[in-house]
Amino acid sequence: MTFEELKALDHAHTLQTYGRFDVAIAHGKGATLWDLEGKEYIDFTSGIGVNSVGYGNEQWAWSIYEQALALGHISNLFYTQPYAKLADVLCRRAGMAAAFFGNSGAEANEGIIKLARKYSFDKYGKGRSTILTLKNSFHGRTITTLTATGQDVFHQYFYPFMEGFRYADANDLESVKAEGGKDVCAVMLELVQGEGGVLPMEPDFVQGLAELCAERDWLLLVDEVQTGIGRTGTLFAYQQYGIQPDAASFAKGIAGGLPMGGFLVNEKCRNVLGAGMHGSTFGGNPIAASAALTVLDILDEDALEAVKEKGAYLRAGIEALDKKSIGSTRGLGLMIGIEVKEGYTNKALAAQLVQNGLLVLTAGPGLRLLPPLTITKEEMDKGLAIMAQVLE
Ligand SMILES: *Cc1c(COP(=O)(O)O)cnc(C)c1O
Repeated sequence: MTFEELKALDHAHTLQTYGRFDVAIAHGKGATLWDLEGKEYIDFTSGIGVNSVGYGNEQWAWSIYEQALALGHISNLFYTQPYAKLADVLCRRAGMAAAFFGNSGAEANEGIIKLARKYSFDKYGKGRSTILTLKNSFHGRTITTLTATGQDVFHQYFYPFMEGFRYADANDLESVKAEGGKDVCAVMLELVQGEGGVLPMEPDFVQGLAELCAERDWLLLVDEVQTGIGRTGTLFAYQQYGIQPDAASFAKGIAGGLPMGGFLVNEKCRNVLGAGMHGSTFGGNPIAASAALTVLDILDEDALEAVKEKGAYLRAGIEALDKKSIGSTRGLGLMIGIEVKEGYTNKALAAQLVQNGLLVLTAGPGLRLLPPLTITKEEMDKGLAIMAQVLE
C-alpha cells in the first residue's frame, strides 16, 4: 500500500478526530523509525510519552509473546501473577501501599477522583466532594476528566459538565486557599503540566500545597500520567519534589506501548475502595502487566539516572543551536518544552521538522519533546543535527 492509498482509506472510514502529520510509520528500532517508503526518522515523541523503552525492544516483545501464549486474559475475578507482581514492584519503588490497574490515563484519574470522594464521604459524610485542580492542566477526555482539566477550551460542546470542580492558579498557594472551602476533599495536579506546555511546578508551591492538604485533610492527588514511569528521571516526579501524595495516577509509559493505566495509594487510602466499588474489565490484564514488569526492569536506577543526563544533554544541545525561531527550554528529565518565538507557530515548526526526519510534539504554544527513555547519544545528535539544519 502506498502512503496516498493508506491516507484515502483512513479518511474514508475513520472519525477525523486527529490532526495527523502526513506520514505513515511502518516500524522502528530504538528511537529510530521508518515510514512506508523506507524513509528514516528520529523520534523525539515516543508515541506521546508511551514507548518508554524504544521501538522493537526484544526483552519487551518476548515478555508479551510468552505471556500471550501462557494466558492472555482471564478477568479480575481470578488472581494472576503479573498483576500482583507489578503492584508489588511499583509500590516498593514508589513508597506506596496499594495499586489499581486500568487502561488509560483518563480512567486512572477517574479512579483517584472516586477515591477522594469516597475517602471524604466515609469520614465527613455528604457535601465534601469538590476537587481543586490547576488552571492550564490536562487530566483526560472523559466528561469528568475534561471537567477536571483547567482550560476553558475543553469546556465546550459536551454539556453538561460535572459538578464539583474548581480551578486555582498554578504556583500560587494563595489562589488554592482562596478556592478552598468546606466542600473541598482533594487537590489534583500535574507536577509538570504536559499538554499545557511543559510547565514545571515550583518546589516551594508543591511543598506548601502538600502541607495545606495535610492540614485540611484534603487528599493530594498527583496526575503522573505523563511525568510518571521514569520520564522525569525518577520513577515518579513527586520523588524529586520531596512530597508523598495520597494517590498518584500513571498510564502513558507504564507498559511501553500497550494500553495500561492505574493508580497507587498510600497506607491511609488503601481500604477506601472496597469490593465492588471500582473495577475495569481489561485492567491489569496479564499481557499488559507483563510488559509493564519488563519496562520497570529496564528502567532501573541507572537507567533513571541516565534519563536526567540525557535530558540535560538534549537541552544544552538545543540551547546551543541559537535559532531565530526557538527560544529557551524547560522541563524535567526527558520531558522538554521549547519556547517558540514570535512570528513562528509551533504547528508549522513541528510539521517542518517531521518532514525533514525528526518527530516532535507541540504543547501549549511551544514544542514538546518526549523521546524514548532509552534513546542513545547518537540518536539525540542526529535529531539535533536535523533541528540545526531545518530551523531558522
Ligand atoms: C495524556 C494525559 C492524560 C490522559 O491520558 P489518556 O490515556 O489519553 O486517557 C491525563 N493526564 C495527563 C497529565 C496526560 O498527559
